[in-house]
Amino acid sequence: MSRVFLFNPPTGLYRRDNRCQNRVEDQTVNVVFPPMELLYPAAILERAGHKVWVRDYPALNASWNDLIADLKEMNPDWAVFTATIATLDSDLQSAEIVKQHCPNAVTAAKGEPLHYLDEDIINKTKDLDIILRGEVDGYIADLVGGASWDSLPEATYREEDSIIRTNRHKDLLDINDLPFPARHLIDNNIYLSPETRNPLTTIVTSLGCPYKCIFCSVPAMTGAKVRYRSPENVVAELEECIQKYGIREFLFHADTFTLNKRWVIELCSLIVKKRLDIRWGCNSRVDSIDEERLIWMKRAGCWVVGFGVESGNDEHLSAMKKGATADQARAAIRLCRKHGVRSHAFFVFGFPWDTHESICELVNFAKELDPDFFDFNVAFPLPGTELDRLVSQKGLVVRERLRCGGYAVGAVSSETLSAQELEKWRKRALWKMYLRPRYIARTFWNAGSPAIALNYLRAAISRVFNLIKPGRSNEAHSAV
Ligand code: SF4
Repeated sequence: MSRVFLFNPPTGLYRRDNRCQNRVEDQTVNVVFPPMELLYPAAILERAGHKVWVRDYPALNASWNDLIADLKEMNPDWAVFTATIATLDSDLQSAEIVKQHCPNAVTAAKGEPLHYLDEDIINKTKDLDIILRGEVDGYIADLVGGASWDSLPEATYREEDSIIRTNRHKDLLDINDLPFPARHLIDNNIYLSPETRNPLTTIVTSLGCPYKCIFCSVPAMTGAKVRYRSPENVVAELEECIQKYGIREFLFHADTFTLNKRWVIELCSLIVKKRLDIRWGCNSRVDSIDEERLIWMKRAGCWVVGFGVESGNDEHLSAMKKGATADQARAAIRLCRKHGVRSHAFFVFGFPWDTHESICELVNFAKELDPDFFDFNVAFPLPGTELDRLVSQKGLVVRERLRCGGYAVGAVSSETLSAQELEKWRKRALWKMYLRPRYIARTFWNAGSPAIALNYLRAAISRVFNLIKPGRSNEAHSAV
């Protein structure tokens, strides 16, 4: 049995999933989700008989000193931590801290950027022993169980003076075989719905996406084949959350939750049949929603659907390989409104072709759609994406801004707009959308209760402060 410590370093509150590595405070909905990136491997390792600890330091509002205190107390054999692109340099300092206080512990790191920048990072980070790439949940038990590192499917490590990068075939993970996330290892009451302030958790329902949006890391990280959990398996986890942890609010996390209509209806009908009485949100594509699906979703407790609308210009949508149109976005938002399900639209600009005019058009399109919630992101060159290759070839990456906070901070310029101008445009677009009297009135009217309206007011105040802050330099919390 090994003693394994899994943690998110105290480097600021960021989403830490593959395609969303954004600073939480930069999102319209300031929600902190439980760390599934730690809780799945924790459950797998516990099932294999190891002693496991989990700490989500940013969510605990904890510091590097708390990490040091925990290391001294746990004295783990393994310390596995995560990294995001925006916090990478600070996250990697964890390895040094672990080695200072637990010199015998093996240090391992995982996260989307490490999948691509692995050789450079392992070369530069002498205290980091191994980088875990790909679907870590598929082999972490073998690793901790003593498998030789060269037998691992996707790992990068140092051996004497050389760097070894394994790349072996491994069957895709069957997500129905995974244990449920080890929620007993965290305090579930710190992850709250920003609307109701009730505990909220994430349920991973499928992995993979067949689309190839040029800015998205999902196709490369989880593959084009979509792997679904059975509706029974998902419902069993929902029941565990209700009975064991008293959680009734959920985000169904999938690369595209609504893609398979039959599966969505089967899952929703099972939730209805079991009378689970839950409230949930999910993400979708504008071309994979229809009346029948949405009616079932609403009956099963869905109250909000997120759509990656991205743009209202079909040529731009085609250039970003979205595989959807502006008219489909119009229809999807209309459908949600008709059935009383809130919509959350995500827009993105900052591609090489973007100009003042195209961003103005985008804001006008967003106003026309009039979703209930919205975010504007500046296109971010995540390592390994087609966008990264495109903007690198064109010399449009602004390297010194890559570690400045994620999708709210322009780290690219377009052919005609600087990174700073794109960042200002994002704020301007948000102001133009928020400051519509009808929108403000509708948002508070839809709140449905004074308590939720008050939470909206709090969110609005924090949003105003966030937007009036000056532009940022690197704010990730460094250990030194
Ligand atoms: S639809 Fe596009 S943005 Fe959404 S997960 Fe698939 S590739 Fe990524």
